[in-house]
Amino acid sequence: MYQQVTHPCIQHKLALIRDAGTDHKMFRELATEITMFVCYEALKNIRVREVDVETPLAVAKCRVIDEHIVVVPILRAGVGMLDGILSLIPSARVGFIGLERDEETARPSAYYAKMPPQIRGGISIIVDPMLATGGSTVAAIDMLKAQGANRIVVVCIVTCPEGLAAVEAAHPDVSIYAAAVDSMLNERKYIVPGLGDAGDRLYGTA
Ligand code: URA
Repeated sequence: MYQQVTHPCIQHKLALIRDAGTDHKMFRELATEITMFVCYEALKNIRVREVDVETPLAVAKCRVIDEHIVVVPILRAGVGMLDGILSLIPSARVGFIGLERDEETARPSAYYAKMPPQIRGGISIIVDPMLATGGSTVAAIDMLKAQGANRIVVVCIVTCPEGLAAVEAAHPDVSIYAAAVDSMLNERKYIVPGLGDAGDRLYGTA
């Protein structure tokens, strides 16, 4: 299942983040803001429990989040989405995964992975701004599942039909949330029109 979050506030920010003239400072701010909106939607059905809260006047029946949330940025561009999701859920735990291409198999393999144990039983949210071929995302999901995660959501900024199809084929139980589904990948596997190399644009390395 995938969902594109079409709210005008996100689409406006998307127009700004796509612009080649947006510098790395503004790009980072926009990535944070878009992530907050997309995650807000992705988390709309998480479990809550009732608590009584004493206001200055009376007791109010309130609801608080009743889940362990683990955010898993895929290095390096995924880190650019961390502030956004942590502003929404400050108590979330964070696991990191670094992937590189295995020259023998041509498939992504993990050179770094450190997960909180709460991936077992909690909700794991993989964040990566660009879901392009889907190779890294599928590898990250494989790894999380191998470590016991069974409730996984993917949040990205821009994706494309190829990326969605790859993740859906390998992991039909994983929901994907994006601000945009663009038309295609080019020969270098960049999303078109996309927003370019998200890591370079986030960190000013281009
Ligand atoms: N990674 C990026 O940073 N941009 C793309 O378009 C695809 C993958």
